[in-house]
Amino acid sequence: SGVAKLDISDVPPPKSKGLDVVKEFESSSSKRNASFVVVGHVDAGKSTLMGRLLMELKFVEERTIAKYRRQGEKIGKQSFALAWVMDQRQEERDRGVTIDIATNNFETEKTKFTILDAPGHRDFVPNMIAGASQADFAILVIDANTGAYEKGLKGQTREHILLLRSLGVQRLVVAVNKLDMVGWSSERFDEITQEVTGFLQGLGFHERYVAFIPISGLEGDNIVRPIEDSAASWYTGSTLVDALEAAVPSTAADLRKPLRMAIFEVFRSQQGTTTISGRVDAGTLQVGDVLVVQPSGENGFIRSIVVDNENHDWAVAGQHISIALVNIDPIHIKLGDILCHPADAIPCGESFVMKAMAFNHLMPSPIDLHRGRLHAAGQIQSLLASLDKTTGEVIKKKPKVVHPGDIARVRIKLGAKVPLEAGQRVVIRSEGETIAAGLLE
Ligand code: GDP
Repeated sequence: SGVAKLDISDVPPPKSKGLDVVKEFESSSSKRNASFVVVGHVDAGKSTLMGRLLMELKFVEERTIAKYRRQGEKIGKQSFALAWVMDQRQEERDRGVTIDIATNNFETEKTKFTILDAPGHRDFVPNMIAGASQADFAILVIDANTGAYEKGLKGQTREHILLLRSLGVQRLVVAVNKLDMVGWSSERFDEITQEVTGFLQGLGFHERYVAFIPISGLEGDNIVRPIEDSAASWYTGSTLVDALEAAVPSTAADLRKPLRMAIFEVFRSQQGTTTISGRVDAGTLQVGDVLVVQPSGENGFIRSIVVDNENHDWAVAGQHISIALVNIDPIHIKLGDILCHPADAIPCGESFVMKAMAFNHLMPSPIDLHRGRLHAAGQIQSLLASLDKTTGEVIKKKPKVVHPGDIARVRIKLGAKVPLEAGQRVVIRSEGETIAAGLLE
């Protein structure tokens, strides 16, 4: 490549302050990061709800909404204004006009939320898989209208929820939407809560990780402020935003795990420094730490850490950061590599078993494995077993083929060593199509 050979031996290694990073984090006012996907039947109100959230939390201007309202009035579709906020952004992204990922972020007092996979996009499945593979939790939007929610639980919604389960997403906020249309009926809300609870339990979700929140996305009731209609005085529970806060998994346990930072971007700069951005998936790090890059096994020192455009002495699991590494030749660093501490580095391997949800027929055949920015060519070596969707028990050993929608344990063999460990979410593609997704075992 055209990268000049750097004299990396000239750079003095920075000194570590030897901080107890977990303590530092606990006594700081750092916001948590959390990402979610939005699922639900077409017309359940997903776009409207997201537009409403962004508006109420002041991440989109009233002016923009007013503009869409006026445009909507002209064609007799005033209520579409909120949904257009999301659809418009999606369209802009599709056309490559704004590559501003921040447009789908909003913040509360405690948390920075990222909406993965903006709804409004009709060709949902590929986005859904990409989003689900990074989601901390999901919002399921249900249309509370008579007859509308039953059909909303079938077909694609059911598939999306199964996919979330397969990728280890355990937490759901069920937004029971359009309750304004049924006079904020508590009977309707209770009936839906019961039915959907049964449905979700059948798909392997635990009751304690599922919250039901009555809302009107269109009118903005119980999103940020409580419900205005006195017909809803029976409801004393939390708002949707409070439920989102409660759904954020605690990172406390993640902080004490070995450091794992997946490399999202690499910038080679002068003076022997390589800048790397990515998300800290587990553990903590601080300036002066020695890091090892897997799979190359090369070491470097952290000279500086940047979080939200500011220099920090440390960073923790859940944060998106950039770090400047010194004393390492960038030739050893690739997108998708994992940064670790040398004492507990992630192992590298070529062969592994995963529990996969199939979107296509699975058979022994060539595939590409994707995890974030990591792409590795390989093959499905063997189909070990078909599994029951909810219990995970073996239904059939060594099936000849796994059918779309089924869950199976498969052995994957890659052409080179990659950093792999149990619990990672991976996506399997073939000829440009996603054919399976799931967790490494
Ligand atoms: P999506 O396909 O799930 O993104 O659904 P949209 O957000 O496009 O909404 C579908 C239709 O339902 C639109 O006409 C919305 O105005 C309407 N809608 C969405 N939320 C509500 C609500 O809370 N109350 C009422 N009455 N209508 C709603």
